[in-house]
Amino acid sequence: MSLLSRLAAALRAPAPAEASLAATSDAPVTPARPAPPEGANNYVIVTLDSCRFDSFVKAKPRFATRLGEVQKRYSYATWTAPSHYNLLIGLLPHASPQNVYASEYYKEDFLRFQERLNFEVSFAKMVPNLWLPGYLRSVGYRTGMYASMPVLNPATPINRDFDDYALMDHHNDIVPMIRRMRFYEERPSFYVLNTGETHYPYATPDEPENSWPRISGVNGVFKHLDDHVRAGNLVHASEAPQFFDEARMKELHARQIRAVQWVDRSLEELFDTVPKNTYITITADHGELFGERGYFGHGPIQHDKVFEVPFVEGQIR
Ligand SMILES: [Zn+2]
Repeated sequence: MSLLSRLAAALRAPAPAEASLAATSDAPVTPARPAPPEGANNYVIVTLDSCRFDSFVKAKPRFATRLGEVQKRYSYATWTAPSHYNLLIGLLPHASPQNVYASEYYKEDFLRFQERLNFEVSFAKMVPNLWLPGYLRSVGYRTGMYASMPVLNPATPINRDFDDYALMDHHNDIVPMIRRMRFYEERPSFYVLNTGETHYPYATPDEPENSWPRISGVNGVFKHLDDHVRAGNLVHASEAPQFFDEARMKELHARQIRAVQWVDRSLEELFDTVPKNTYITITADHGELFGERGYFGHGPIQHDKVFEVPFVEGQIR
């Protein structure tokens, strides 16, 4: 077990002194905060980990598309931690606009939060912290984030200004995440769900672990199956030549597509769970390589397919 996995396992077990905090999603720790802006929406961001754009489209999602049209966007980073950090600054995957000043794009992109949140957002109040959860909390929101990837464990700085933060027990726990969310009449909720069904090994909860794909012959990178949720997995064909045949790459890509379909079906429960005034954004933190240029995975690499992510958002009702 890697150091990171051991750390994550230790963090999943709540320490006695914190047990009451960890187990009180029904009675959240709520620091004093103002009454929220009138009519403010609940806001939920779902990041499908490692889901590249074409996998999402090929899955022909039935539920996600109820929110709106699926757009091709680009992540700012190629692996989980920087991508989520960026997201929580308030920068969602970008549209790679042509002939537009970055400052203009940032401004426009930030103002889109007005539609999502249904109140007049203030960039002036975002500075100097540049931290969306902190900003939303300061205007009266309750905040929560549930993560699948150990690099987003609760001890990391990404857990700042969240009332309820958890690293889930399994990498494919979108349904338990949905069931843990809480919504209140007196104040809106902001949630980020980082779900890992679409991350290698693209395993859904209904699939027995002994049928997961195994990458043999790779030392270090994918050595332990229990480390499958480590972020930034990237393997080159030279490290595992027998693994890199075209059929295997197609099979893995097909598994990611099936994982999208599973997550998409789970969205029905999300849509049934959230109150009426809830805006939802569904995207991915980065893409994945399935044999392009001899690589499998994502991480320290520059390739279009690692940046192309799906993006769909709207209000379900
Ligand atoms: Zn990721």
